[in-house]
Amino acid sequence: MTKMTLSESLIAVDLTYQCPACQFPLVKRGSWFRVVSKYRCEGCGRMIRIGYPEKLKLFEKHTHLLGAFTGLACPNEHKPAS
Ligand SMILES: [Zn+2]
Repeated sequence: MTKMTLSESLIAVDLTYQCPACQFPLVKRGSWFRVVSKYRCEGCGRMIRIGYPEKLKLFEKHTHLLGAFTGLACPNEHKPAS
């Protein structure tokens, strides 16, 4: 059993994963990364394995995006349009 989970909050967010071989950026939804275990890199054509530790790191790297989303609902910025 493990306590680690991939955040549900990021499944609808675009995440960027850099190919460990050529640094080519792969941009996919969090939901895609949750289920995938490997993909073919468009930069170097290799099959890249994404294990659970890599996914965790990737999700952690993008958690700040959620803060940006909640910032949109900041009450101080809310002014009634009259
Ligand atoms: Zn690559």
